[in-house]
Amino acid sequence: MREIEGRWPGVRVLPKGDSRFCRVIDRALKIITFGGQDRFLDGYVTTLGRRIYVPDSWFAMDAGERYCILRHEAVHLEQFRRFTWPGMVLLYLLLPLPVGLAGGRAWLEWQGYRETLDAHWQLYGPAAAHSGALKKGIVRRFTGPDYAWMWVLGRTIERAIARHLAYREANPPPPLEFPDAR
Ligand SMILES: [Zn+2]
Repeated sequence: MREIEGRWPGVRVLPKGDSRFCRVIDRALKIITFGGQDRFLDGYVTTLGRRIYVPDSWFAMDAGERYCILRHEAVHLEQFRRFTWPGMVLLYLLLPLPVGLAGGRAWLEWQGYRETLDAHWQLYGPAAAHSGALKKGIVRRFTGPDYAWMWVLGRTIERAIARHLAYREANPPPPLEFPDAR
């Protein structure tokens, strides 16, 4: 968190249920996905601007899991800085084109999940990054109603994951340093 605060000043971690905006998104998602995504409030971390909204379960989560999620959310913090709010809304909502990873939402999320893979690699080792469960979880995010569908084929994501892991075999991410850890 200290590193994130240094890079994106003013960032805050807030409970999702307290946010009116998140409750509006929750209702909209339930309608758009015919109830397929009904865990937005209690199962997902969502970054909007410089606010990272977390579900109640966040505080009971394992520190390593929270670390990996924050690495993913940090990608979205940077995207909001780079593309600004209007840019993110345009990319996230208005360009859900069925063109694989070039579709706005899938493209933004793929950048996040690449970081998820790297964080697992660095924290738990290469075998964890290669785990079938992690792959399955990521593929489900892209092919299911979690993000109101991204129109990406499962095998497209599987190939993208395999390509990234092959890249990491040749270019391993640097070891993690936690100067404050005791
Ligand atoms: Zn994401």
